[in-house]
Amino acid sequence: MKEIKHFINGDHVASQSGRTFENRNPVDNSLIARVHEAGQAEVDAAVSAAQAALNGPWGRMTLKDRAELLNRVADRITERFDEFLDAECKDTGKPYAMASTVDIPRGAANFKAFAEMLANEPTDAFRMDTPDGLGALNIGQRRPKGVIAVISPWNLPLLLMTFKVAPALACGNTVVVKPSEETPSTAALLGEVMNECGVPPGVYNVVHGFGPNSAGEYLTAHKAVNAITFTGETRTGQIIMQAAAIGLRDISMELGGKNPGVVFADCDLDKAIEGTMRSAFLNCGQVCLGTERVYVERPIFERFVERLRARVAELRIGRPQDEGVDFGPLVSQQHRKKVLSYYQLAVDEGATVVIGGGVPDMGDELNEGAWIEPTIWTGLADDARVIREEIFGPCCHIRPFDTEEEVIALANDTDYGLAAAIWTENSARAIRVAEQVNAGIVWVNSWYLRDLRTSFGGAKRSGIGREGGTYSLDFYTELKNICIKL
Ligand code: NAD
Repeated sequence: MKEIKHFINGDHVASQSGRTFENRNPVDNSLIARVHEAGQAEVDAAVSAAQAALNGPWGRMTLKDRAELLNRVADRITERFDEFLDAECKDTGKPYAMASTVDIPRGAANFKAFAEMLANEPTDAFRMDTPDGLGALNIGQRRPKGVIAVISPWNLPLLLMTFKVAPALACGNTVVVKPSEETPSTAALLGEVMNECGVPPGVYNVVHGFGPNSAGEYLTAHKAVNAITFTGETRTGQIIMQAAAIGLRDISMELGGKNPGVVFADCDLDKAIEGTMRSAFLNCGQVCLGTERVYVERPIFERFVERLRARVAELRIGRPQDEGVDFGPLVSQQHRKKVLSYYQLAVDEGATVVIGGGVPDMGDELNEGAWIEPTIWTGLADDARVIREEIFGPCCHIRPFDTEEEVIALANDTDYGLAAAIWTENSARAIRVAEQVNAGIVWVNSWYLRDLRTSFGGAKRSGIGREGGTYSLDFYTELKNICIKL
C-alpha cells in the first residue's frame, strides 16, 4: 500500500503519532494510499524548517538564480507529466482529458509565469526636494514576507496550490503547504521535484491532514507563520481569519461563489450553449468560477433550456482515462451526499427537473464511486436556498428575464461576488452589464479564459484581496521604502 508522508526540510517524514488517514479514488472508492496526519510536532518542524531556510542559501540567492530554479521546477513537472496526471486523476476522479489540458500544464506554467513577472517587476524610485536644496531619493523595495502558510482545496489541487506556491517562492518566501485531505498526492510529488531541481531544504514543506484539531488549525495558529493564503469555502475562510488575527498576520482569501450566467437574446446561441456547458459542468461542476444560476432573456428561454438539456444528455460519463470521457465522479462520497441533499432540496422547493437529479447506474465495478447525474432545474423562486447557496456540483438553475435592468439586479442578488459570464453580440451592452455586475471576474462571450498577469479574486463573501500578476507580488512581499538624503 502506498504511503504519503509529510515533506519537511527536504525529507519525507512520518508522523510521530503514527496516525494516518485513507486516500480513496472516487471512481470506485478503492484505496490509493495511507496518508500521514500531521500533529503539532510535524507542523512545528515544518515551520521551523521554513524559517531556517529564509536565513540559508535561499535567502541569499539572487533573483536571477531563484527564477532559474523555478523554471527548472516547471520543466521537471512537465518531464514527470504522466505521474502528476495519474496522481491528480486518481485523487479527484477528473477526466485525463481535462487534467492533461488544464490542471497539470497550468501547474507548471504558474512557476514560469511568476518567475518571469518578478524578474521584470520595476523598482519605484522618487526624487524629492528638501529645504537644503540637495534633495533625497526614495527607493521602493519588495522584501519577502517570510514563512507563508498555503491552505488549498481539492477541486484543482496542483493548479490552485502552485498559483500560491509559485509567486510565494518567486518573491523569496518559504512555504508550508497544507493540501486538502482529499487530494494529497500532487503536493507530495512536488516535494520530490523540488529536491530533484536543487531547491534548498526547508523552502517547500508539506504537512498533511484535516482542518480543525489537525494540520490546518495548527498551521494557521502557528506564531512563526507570517502570512496565510487560503482557497476554500467561505465558512472555513472566516475561521482562518480569526486565527490570523492573533499576531496580526496578513491573509489572502479565495472563497466560494454562486456565479450568474447572463444570456441575452442577441447572443451567438451556439457559443452561449457551449460556454454554459463548460461553466456549469466542467470538472463535475466543482469549479469555484462555475455558473450555478443561468438567466436567459425570455424570447430564447425555451430554446436555450431545450438545447442545454440535449447537450447534457450527450455528456459522456465514465472512467477518467477512457477516450472521449468528459464527465467524472464528484471528489468523494461525502461531497456527493452534500450535493444530493441539494438535489432533493431543489425538488422540495418546487423546481422542475429538466434533466438529471439523481445517481447514474455505472455498473457493479463503479457503483461504489461518487457518481452523480448532471442536473438542470427551472422554476425556482429567487429566494430558494438552491439559488442562494453554493452547491459545488454539476447543476444549474435557468430562469427567464425580460430587461437588462432586471437581470443586473438578479445577478447581484447574492452574498457572493466571484465571477459572472455574459453572452451577447452587442458590445455596448456587454460593457454596460459587465460594469454593473458586482464580481471580481466578468467574462463576456467566454468563460475561464485566464491571463496570469490579470487580477483574480472575489467581491463580497467570495474573498479578500487579489491574486495574479503584480497583485500576487503585493501579497507575497512587504514593501519597504528606503529614503536616502543626498
Ligand atoms: P474547505 O474550506 O472545506 O477546505 C479547504 C482547505 O482548508 C482544506 O485543505 C481543508 O483541510 C482546510 N481547512 C478546513 N478547515 C480548516 C480550519 N479550521 N483551519 C485550517 N484549515 C482548514 O474547501 P474545499 O471543500 O476543499 O473546496 C471547495 C470550496 O473552495 C468551494 O467553496 C469553492 O468555491 C472554493 N474554491 C474557491 C476558489 C477561488 O479561487 N475563489 C477556488 C477553488 C475553490
